[in-house]
Amino acid sequence: MRERSYDVIIVGASFAGLAVARQLRGEVLLLDRHEVGTVQTSACGTPLWVPQALGLEKSVLQIHTKAVIHAPTRTVAFDVSDAPYCTFDYRAFCQGLLEQNRARFLRAAVRGFDGERVETSEGSFRAPLVVDCSGWRAVLAESGAGDADHERDMSFGLETHTGYSGDALYFWANPRRYREGIAWLFPVGNGSRVGVGSYAGSSKLKEPLERFVDDLSAAPTSYHGTFFPSRLRRATTGKIFVVGDAAGQCLPLTAEGIRPALFFGQACGGIIQRVLEGALTLEEGLEEYRRGVERYRWAYRLLRAAQRVAMSAPEGWLGPMAALAARPSLMARWWPRYSRFGWLALGAGFRIWRSDEGT
Ligand SMILES: Cc1cc2nc3c(=O)[nH]c(=O)nc-3n(C[C@H](O)[C@H](O)[C@H](O)COP(=O)(O)OP(=O)(O)OC[C@H]3O[C@@H](n4cnc5c(N)ncnc54)[C@H](O)[C@@H]3O)c2cc1C
Repeated sequence: MRERSYDVIIVGASFAGLAVARQLRGEVLLLDRHEVGTVQTSACGTPLWVPQALGLEKSVLQIHTKAVIHAPTRTVAFDVSDAPYCTFDYRAFCQGLLEQNRARFLRAAVRGFDGERVETSEGSFRAPLVVDCSGWRAVLAESGAGDADHERDMSFGLETHTGYSGDALYFWANPRRYREGIAWLFPVGNGSRVGVGSYAGSSKLKEPLERFVDDLSAAPTSYHGTFFPSRLRRATTGKIFVVGDAAGQCLPLTAEGIRPALFFGQACGGIIQRVLEGALTLEEGLEEYRRGVERYRWAYRLLRAAQRVAMSAPEGWLGPMAALAARPSLMARWWPRYSRFGWLALGAGFRIWRSDEGT
């Protein structure tokens, strides 16, 4: 079979891959083993400004101005009305992003990369620029690097849809019921996404999830879930750009991975476009992307430290710690930085490496 050549090959057509592709002109091949937007793994909660900035308001299902944490000793409410969150429809969001880009989409399972060719179930393809956006498995970055740490530092989440409705994003931090983890309920207009997550990466969550749903007097429907990383990994591997969960860009503690995947994806796409235009060499592009991501390592370390505390603190501490974080004087310090992470890049179209980025 003749090998087809492209300017750029992107593996994975979810948040990260679609955000990279959105920035590119030229011959771009976007590969995924599933049709775009058909296999949801996430609760799809993100700041409302994200779909708004991307012109994807139609995917929004419900807007939330309050987040509530139920800890063993107390319940703490966070007012997030200054930067509301939303839950959105995964298919509509991804299809909307796909419509905004000019890449050729091909449904194919990617098997590996030999340094020149991307091998897939539909044959092999060549490109000088290759981007791994394949989620936690990092199918290309792994075959190139053999990162021994890959299996470590993974959390796992399992979710179901129930008819339960609500008017806030709800979290439960209760080590006796959900060991080394957290449970959540995200209303989506007609019902809720209800899930349980293990920071320790335990994938045996069906039974705790069923118990939790039972506590709510609700009934589970179908289940979905997967691993997600909790440690920032390398943003480049050899000559491969790595974006989203494949690069460990999901935020520790809060497990917000959609915004970072879109944010770093958009930045990476912008850099690759400059390589295509001849403004940067491939090596300069890789270096600029790697250094840009590294600027955020301190924020990832901070959230990881907070995740460790949440995993190991005596259960009686969790409520007071949440209450401390919700105190207006303290919240005024961390919340604007957290909620606007990525804002200048996604919201205002600026390059992310500007020194005035709010994180
Ligand atoms: C239960 C759960 C709930 C979550 N809730 C939230 C939330 O509410 N908000 C939030 O911000 N984050 C949430 N996250 C995290 C978030 O889902 C991820 O961080 C985010 O999806 C990462 O996006 P991505 O594009 O990097 O990877 P993914 O969304 O995982 O996409 C990877 C893509 O690569 C494709 N792929 C993989 N292997 C191959 C292959 N061999 N060949 C071809 N294609 C391949 C997959 O089909 C997929 O389309 C949640 C995670 C879980 C598990």
